[in-house]
Amino acid sequence: MKVEARPYGSLVFRYREPPPSGNAINGLGEAARKPARLVFHWSPGRKPHPWMALDLHFTMVSGLGGPLWGWGSFLQRLRMIWALRRALGPVAPVRREVRDPAAMAREIKALAQRLAGDCIVGIAEIGPDAVLEGGNVPYKHAICIGVPMNRSIMVEAPAPRAGTEVMRTYRRGAVAAVKLAEHIRAMGWPAKAFGETKTTDLLHIPVALKAGLGELGKHGSMISREFGSNFRLVAVATDLPLAVDAPVDIGVDDLCAGCQRCTLDCPAGAISDKKQLVRGVEKWYVDFDKCTPYFAETAGCAICIEVCPWSEPGRGFKLSEMLLAKRGAKARPRAAAAAK
Ligand code: SF4
Ligand code: SF4
Repeated sequence: MKVEARPYGSLVFRYREPPPSGNAINGLGEAARKPARLVFHWSPGRKPHPWMALDLHFTMVSGLGGPLWGWGSFLQRLRMIWALRRALGPVAPVRREVRDPAAMAREIKALAQRLAGDCIVGIAEIGPDAVLEGGNVPYKHAICIGVPMNRSIMVEAPAPRAGTEVMRTYRRGAVAAVKLAEHIRAMGWPAKAFGETKTTDLLHIPVALKAGLGELGKHGSMISREFGSNFRLVAVATDLPLAVDAPVDIGVDDLCAGCQRCTLDCPAGAISDKKQLVRGVEKWYVDFDKCTPYFAETAGCAICIEVCPWSEPGRGFKLSEMLLAKRGAKARPRAAAAAK
């Protein structure tokens, strides 16, 4: 399905003195392994960053720009923030002991699925690569939840209804994460719910990759067999003993190597056909300086994730099977790999 890029040719926002390149802040070209630095999605309590003006402009356009973009996204964000007031809470004094972390992981995943509805769930250990520089996520495991967006609305992106759908999905995920965290705390184990990126030091994508929810695509977003890239991530961090999942190989690189759909459709020309070195890891990387001004001006562009063939409903499993068969490989199932 072809999604037309909207004619946002002349952006309203302009820096008189452009800030340092966001690509440099992100560590593009750096060979040493380092934690990710904050470059966008500022929130109260965080230190200001060099792209603050554009960040605030994005907040105005997507949130307070009601007359232009509709109030839907703003109201969904308020509801999400309201739900996340219970992200943390008291832990029950009597602890339920866990003798079988694999059985506990199955129980927690089933509960997450009941709470979030249609979703994907995986569990990973929280390592330094999953925490923002200077951030603090003092828990052992992340339960990552991928919640699908309404595809028929998202194909309109970038548009007000799509922006509202993104925030509605984050709100739905956050409500489920809060309830899951409350359930774990009632079992006597510490747990905290995390919503959208703006509200958390936990980096959703690195930890969800480890948890086997999908792979990184050329467009810099995750791709799953179930929903393609048409989903959003929330999480619960906890010390509850859980078996962790393994990263998956579903054939994403095989398709990205020959596909140029997102590269050609990105109105900002931000998507490269080659993997690049970012803080010591060779990976797909989207040019921050090109993408972010367009993303901010359109209240959250999502063109690349919607034009991706994986995002077409019902296509992911067949695509994965075909790509892996071509390579002579087998998909690694998303199953508990090791007890921690
Ligand atoms: S989100 Fe960024 S990378 Fe993706 S299509 Fe829009 S401008 Fe391009
Ligand atoms: S549109 Fe094509 S190249 Fe881009 S992420 Fe999807 S499969 Fe990869």
